[in-house]
Amino acid sequence: MSSERLFSEAQRLLPGGVSSPVRAIKPYPFYVKSAQGSKIKDVDGNEYIDYCMGYGPLILGHAHPAIKMAVINQLDKGWLYGTPIEQEVALAKEITRYYKGIEMVRFLTSGTDATMSAIRIARGFTGRNKIIKIEGGFHGAHEAVLVKAGSGVATMGMPSSLGIPPEFTKHTLQVPFNDIGAMSQVIDEFKEDTAAIIMEPVMGNVGPILPEGKYLQEVRALTKEHDILLIFDEVITGFRLAMGGAQEYYNVTSDITTLGKILGGGFSIGAVGGRREIMEYVSPAGKVYQAGTFNGNPVSLTAGLATIEVLRSEKVHEKLNGVGNSLRTQLEDIITGKSLDYTVAGIGSMFKVFFGGEVHNYQGALRCDKEKYGQFFHRMHKDGIFLPPSQFETNFLSYAHTQEDIKRTIDAYEVNLS
Ligand SMILES: *Cc1c(COP(=O)(O)O)cnc(C)c1O
Repeated sequence: MSSERLFSEAQRLLPGGVSSPVRAIKPYPFYVKSAQGSKIKDVDGNEYIDYCMGYGPLILGHAHPAIKMAVINQLDKGWLYGTPIEQEVALAKEITRYYKGIEMVRFLTSGTDATMSAIRIARGFTGRNKIIKIEGGFHGAHEAVLVKAGSGVATMGMPSSLGIPPEFTKHTLQVPFNDIGAMSQVIDEFKEDTAAIIMEPVMGNVGPILPEGKYLQEVRALTKEHDILLIFDEVITGFRLAMGGAQEYYNVTSDITTLGKILGGGFSIGAVGGRREIMEYVSPAGKVYQAGTFNGNPVSLTAGLATIEVLRSEKVHEKLNGVGNSLRTQLEDIITGKSLDYTVAGIGSMFKVFFGGEVHNYQGALRCDKEKYGQFFHRMHKDGIFLPPSQFETNFLSYAHTQEDIKRTIDAYEVNLS
């Protein structure tokens, strides 16, 4: 069946025809037949160079042979036990080796799970209620973090989704990214009842937007001063910017870290980790309740371990970040050559062309020309390049992208950017 036919059936059976909102590409999304390396093929006979990469997890590309073999070996032995396995000890060792701030870790099933647990742990540990998040920061789809943007600093957070009582979000405060003054002001007002700040150290869901100057260090100092826990949500950046994520890259350590995406090598996973004294609050060691049937899933742990092994033995980050730098320079040259008022953003293997001037925070990202980006997305799609359909989603390079892929991609930007 064609993508068009499948989608028309799907619209009767699935809300919006999809299983997650960003996939609802207009007029209809392509249905995937298979994927390998940097390429993804649809049921209509088209092939694309993929820069979504499952929205982040596939740093080694699709169907990497080392991960595939490891998973097949695991499947031969069964795939769910409801009792501990060696891989959770092994993967916890890898995480604690690379993340200075993590001494203990709980394995979960998604990034959403991880941030939800991180916030509960922070509240349990501090005995305080409020959290501060960054405007436009995405931490999954749960009550505490689905809060409307732009409602003004230091006011009660209002739900950004139907189905969430305002009482559930009133403890969530928001501040703009890269604005230590605004954060300091909110902390001054609410420090007695603030448990934690949760933030993506590099914003990945409205950008990428990088922390500027000493912003992360200043946030770290401010949280220390007021005994507020700092949660780095590294679900995107963990194992992507470096083995130790953005914390290694920027040399700033958080109290609690959330991981996901790459950690599962393309299988569903989440993890929350932190200092021992904090993590010992988690059940059954402590009184912050957390549990899950699929926690520490053998297949995901196995795929994660295989991914980390390849990242380490092939020094993937060094190479991949180099490709990212070169790609961004070439994109900048195209924009300069065409005298466009656009900005190339990104770091390491994350990149994006903002259809507007420099972006420092969420409000800046909102000023970009979404309509023009939409047209550009469709032109790239026709030329066999699969970018995220939203101006706000980051493009991801993988280790599987070849020099030829990059060249084709640059050529397509040259032709289609306007
Ligand atoms: C994707 C993402 C999440 C949610 O992870 P899921 O596995 O989709 O639940 C949380 N935080 C950040 C920064 C993310 O990018």
